Amino acid sequence: MKNFPVARPFIDRKDIDGVVGVLKSGLLSFGPKYLQFEKQIAKYTGTRYACAVSNGTCGLHLAVKALNLHPGDEVITSPFSFISSSNCLLFEGVVPRFIDIQENTFNMDPKYLDKSVTKKTKAILAVHIFGQSADMTEIMAFARRHHLPVIEDSCESLGSRYMGKMTGSIGDVGVYAFYPNKQMTTGEGGIVVTKSKKIRDICVSLRNQGRNNRNDWLVHERVGYNYRMDEMSASLGITQLHKLNWMINEKRKIASWYSSELDGHRSIRVPRIGVNRTHSWFVYVIRVTNGSRDKIIKKLERENIFTKPYLPVIHLQPFMKQMFHYKKGAFPIAEKISSQTLALPFYIGLTREDVAYISRKLISVIKNYD
Ligand SMILES: *Cc1c(COP(=O)(O)O)cnc(C)c1O
Repeated sequence: MKNFPVARPFIDRKDIDGVVGVLKSGLLSFGPKYLQFEKQIAKYTGTRYACAVSNGTCGLHLAVKALNLHPGDEVITSPFSFISSSNCLLFEGVVPRFIDIQENTFNMDPKYLDKSVTKKTKAILAVHIFGQSADMTEIMAFARRHHLPVIEDSCESLGSRYMGKMTGSIGDVGVYAFYPNKQMTTGEGGIVVTKSKKIRDICVSLRNQGRNNRNDWLVHERVGYNYRMDEMSASLGITQLHKLNWMINEKRKIASWYSSELDGHRSIRVPRIGVNRTHSWFVYVIRVTNGSRDKIIKKLERENIFTKPYLPVIHLQPFMKQMFHYKKGAFPIAEKISSQTLALPFYIGLTREDVAYISRKLISVIKNYD
């Protein structure tokens, strides 16, 4: 029986040769590769500066530090996201102020912004979930009106555009991640992008033990971290970025196969793309509307088809409930969507026949619960 994992990175000869070349060079950290990778990401995303780091979560942490957010400050964000997009605030004692999401794109709904802004609001952290942009026109207009900086958690949206601009390049600071299930991978890895030299300089110092930018190796200007990206990862970044547009197109093709197989089934909703944006297909997530999502996961597992309940809402995670006393029903749309969403096997190499096979199995299981 064929085995269908939920995700798998695409690694080719060039990726492997590049990493081997780094290993042979002996320069495993602070070599030429991470600088080259930073330049290429800045160019690809249409931003000025990039600062490569060891994962997306620490990139978000640096963004929060660079914006000078302090304990007790509030940041408006989405509860329908991966845990890091709130943890990066909690690291600094900053309070996430969640607002509910839209049913079509699963991103934060700007219509709730007005109600959740307080005197303590110091920034907006927009998440572009699953590979498509939040409504950045409304979010940026609101932010300007209230003089708030905007962080874009673009860890799931590299390569997607909003009104022609790359997500991550629209706000004050954006962060991409390169974990093996993302659009491209460096193993572990992430990168911060910004148009601001000031933000970039702080990030560069903080990722490198708080050193100054004048190469005084043993002078530390601030409390910093070791959030550096190593040269093997950066090499992978360069060779992966080279084929990123091709990889996104391959996934777009697979997504369209799934949608043509599944659209119109009474208990399935296929992904929808909002206006004025492109999707860069981090994951392919359907909604199962007849209440059978969790049973389907178990049944498909027996067929070696691996799927995920993607994603649980952040505010109902055990530690969040404890810290902030959130109850069920706090963000009803996010909770409903989260109880229905299912990520299907989605990676380069899936064939038209694989997608038809998985879809057939899925439909035959769902039918039992209609
Ligand atoms: C993947 C991801 C991150 C960061 O992930 P790392 O595993 O730390 O690289 C942050 N936010 C979102 C929404 C993500 O999906």
